[in-house]
Amino acid sequence: MQTGHGDGATPDRATTDEPREKCGVVGVSLADRDAARPVYYALYALQHRGQDSAGIVTHDGFQQHDHVEMGLVGDAFDEADVEALAGSTGIGHVRYPTAGSVDQSCAQPFTVSFNSGSLGLSHNGNLVNADELRDELAGLGHAFTSDGDTEVIAHDLARNLLDGDLLHAVRETMGRIHGSYSLTVMHDDRVLGVRDPRGNRPLVVGELDDGYVLASESAAIDVLDGDLVRDVRPGEAILLDADGTGYESRQLFEVDDTAHCFFEHVYFARPDSVIDGTLVYDARRELGGALWRESGIDTDVVMPVPDSGRAFASGYADAAQADDASVEFAEGLMKNRYVGRTFIMPTQDERERAVRLKLNPIRSTVEGKSVTLIDDSIVRGTTSTQLVELLRDAGAESVHVRIGAPPIVAPCYFGIDMATREELIAADKTTAEIRETVGADSLAYLSVDAVAAALDEVREDLCLGCVTGEYPYDVAGEATDRDVDRPSPTGLAEADD
Ligand code: 5GP
Ligand code: MG
Repeated sequence: MQTGHGDGATPDRATTDEPREKCGVVGVSLADRDAARPVYYALYALQHRGQDSAGIVTHDGFQQHDHVEMGLVGDAFDEADVEALAGSTGIGHVRYPTAGSVDQSCAQPFTVSFNSGSLGLSHNGNLVNADELRDELAGLGHAFTSDGDTEVIAHDLARNLLDGDLLHAVRETMGRIHGSYSLTVMHDDRVLGVRDPRGNRPLVVGELDDGYVLASESAAIDVLDGDLVRDVRPGEAILLDADGTGYESRQLFEVDDTAHCFFEHVYFARPDSVIDGTLVYDARRELGGALWRESGIDTDVVMPVPDSGRAFASGYADAAQADDASVEFAEGLMKNRYVGRTFIMPTQDERERAVRLKLNPIRSTVEGKSVTLIDDSIVRGTTSTQLVELLRDAGAESVHVRIGAPPIVAPCYFGIDMATREELIAADKTTAEIRETVGADSLAYLSVDAVAAALDEVREDLCLGCVTGEYPYDVAGEATDRDVDRPSPTGLAEADD
């Protein structure tokens, strides 16, 4: 969702340095025990998707209970808070940290009470027509307490629930909202999960001993000792039975072409999660191997920028050794795990200071060596620039930078905080110019085709907006890479499993 700073769809807003979010969502329905604790554990597993706020909403068959706080999951809840959340169904949310977003009104799950019940809503993604819909709903008398897009979805759902059940309401609302969304919704004691018709953000369904779970990533199912059933399909809604015995699937919208975010596999998701059929760790190793084959260089050592570059570097080293190269994998940088959030520091000075605080070279693996340094991505260029200098100071003979993604040339409008166009180092610089700025002996990025191959997808089924500048949804002022007509609703046909 987007915080209370507009919906980010219009170009003037989209190019300002306002928060844009990637989040984690959960939904649980159990046979005979409170859902709050499993939701809480699942949120822990999704903490990397959002550190700004955490919340849980449950329903005990009579009334809704909620607890939503700013901060990490462990800080937002104490034992008594979890205990107080009665009911065997629940949803949860973690929100991505954004500079200056200390506004509790945007924390989720979002809740509304209305004459036909209570609603809870968790959203990961970003709508491109939220402003339009907010104006329309406000005109119909809906009062808004934030200007985020999640509240727009909640009000639209509440209105559609007046003349139908939850599946009907979700289908109607899906016909009106445009953009990326994976949602978990709670209407009274029913939990539903839905993925937008292009499947931009991930969502999976899993089975527990005594119930079912929906989550942004499969790692959240693992921590509950559950089994991953499968990805929720683009345009599909999964309605969990209230008694935890099963779920109903409805393909609400037809899907011609998907727009899975490749950056989930490259950076955002946990390596131990399976998304759209591919284990993130395997995809990163594969991307590392492709990096060797496309632009490998046989230096003394190859080292990751921890932690995001690690699987790439190990895949790179293995591919190199398979080609009889002598380059060896080495850990050359130590990460201080207590320093977080370097990416979102408000000023360049603070970001540089934070990189220095976070990473320190391990001299013996660096001194006198030719080094290949691997990271998943370059956004502003702060990390690479700092690290090349650090490695040279530690005695590296040469530093070659390899990046496991194509150059990021344009902002993300669909849920990942990529900085603004002006801040993106690749927006107006060639790779040669970036190499010079970063101070590396050589620099190479990965091709878009290698990304598609590693994710086992065709390029047309991926959202590549940030690396091509062409988007799969209709963003005002931006180019598109496909026919962005709204997907059509289906006749509420049963899915085939
Ligand atoms: P740069 O320093 O070039 O601005 O950012 C690149 C570094 O930030 C990489 O190490 C990458 O792992 C990380 N990164 C890339 N995208 C994001 C993001 O959306 N949020 C955060 N926190 N880090 C990111
Ligand atoms: Mg990183």
